[in-house]
Amino acid sequence: MSDAAPLKPPIAFIDLDAQRRAIGPAMDEAILKVVHSGKYILGPEVAELEAALSAFAGVAHTLSCANGTDALALALMAWGVGPGDAVLCPSFTFAATAEVVAWTGATPLFVDSREDSFNLDPASLEVGIDTAKRLGLVARAVISVDLFGQPADYDAIVPIAKAHGLKLLVDAAQSFGATLHGRHVAAIGDMAATSFFPAKPLGCYGDGGAVFCHDPETLDLLASLRVHGQDNNDKYENVRIGMNGRLDTIQAAVLLQKLRVFAAETDSRQAIAARYNEALADLAIVPRIGAGRVSTWAQYVLRIPGRERKAVQARLRADNIPTAIYYPKPLHRQTAYARYPVAGNGLPVAEKLAAEVFSIPFHPYLDQATQARIIAAVRRALSA
Ligand SMILES: *Cc1c(COP(=O)(O)O)cnc(C)c1O
Repeated sequence: MSDAAPLKPPIAFIDLDAQRRAIGPAMDEAILKVVHSGKYILGPEVAELEAALSAFAGVAHTLSCANGTDALALALMAWGVGPGDAVLCPSFTFAATAEVVAWTGATPLFVDSREDSFNLDPASLEVGIDTAKRLGLVARAVISVDLFGQPADYDAIVPIAKAHGLKLLVDAAQSFGATLHGRHVAAIGDMAATSFFPAKPLGCYGDGGAVFCHDPETLDLLASLRVHGQDNNDKYENVRIGMNGRLDTIQAAVLLQKLRVFAAETDSRQAIAARYNEALADLAIVPRIGAGRVSTWAQYVLRIPGRERKAVQARLRADNIPTAIYYPKPLHRQTAYARYPVAGNGLPVAEKLAAEVFSIPFHPYLDQATQARIIAAVRRALSA
């Protein structure tokens, strides 16, 4: 290695420090204000955030909660999903999507994904509904995921869900701020859920999440479930089994500050993704966003079929450029989930995608020079 150029400084996969510098002292002030107020649980910032999120996404009601997993669970609990029910969801996703189904006692039924969007395949959804019937399960709901920030194919999914009497829960953990035909994903479906985990497009300084719904009755039900199933008018009367799923006031204050720069960040993500796509399309399958969609680019995911993925990652590591695999194993192949049914005879696309995907550093504060350095290194790694 003596003839090698000295290592360039490491690049962050997602640089939350850069965002902190951009937001400046307003963030520290907002946090300290909560600290001094002493209103750590359901302080005024929580309701303020919920109203701001509703306004931003054009959805009637938002209920904040402790994390994205609880957000998904609250929606299923509000519908009374339970044993004997099937909830259809993709296998090529983060574990929480299916985990919450198992919590309720219902059966997660895994559906295949589309190669062009990484998202739930509507044709496989229809096959999965048949599979549920064949197994004697009641197909109650479908959880579609806007993977890596791109809205799923709701033009096809919504009519299928309607035709079969399924509730549609949008797992917008990676896609808060994304739109389909100008409509925010949080407003699509019977309910939507998102996550404010720090690395998500809109992240807080810890765990956080939110559920979105369209009517006040559902909001009341979700609010009761969020606090141990208490009666909304009498907190000493528990009327149902719920959970402790509140969002901390400090996290609400953090999110209110971040929401101020969020639209500009989302714009910046579009520009960086476009530059990556243009620079890498000849060497890898680059992510394509379907017509009428705006993605939040939660991850920038290339596909490199037929390549030694580990070797490509090692070459980039030698250039001090981190990479990640989202996701190396579809859920139906994982120990905890292998017992659950899949749509039809198997999920070939989910398995193919898991073998081919590979993510490079991406966040809205990547400057031009760093983008160029990443592009050059990825090109070298893929040309070797
Ligand atoms: C992150 C994520 C979740 C869970 O969110 P947490 O806030 O980490 O609980 C659920 N679904 C998807 C697709 C995710 O990416």
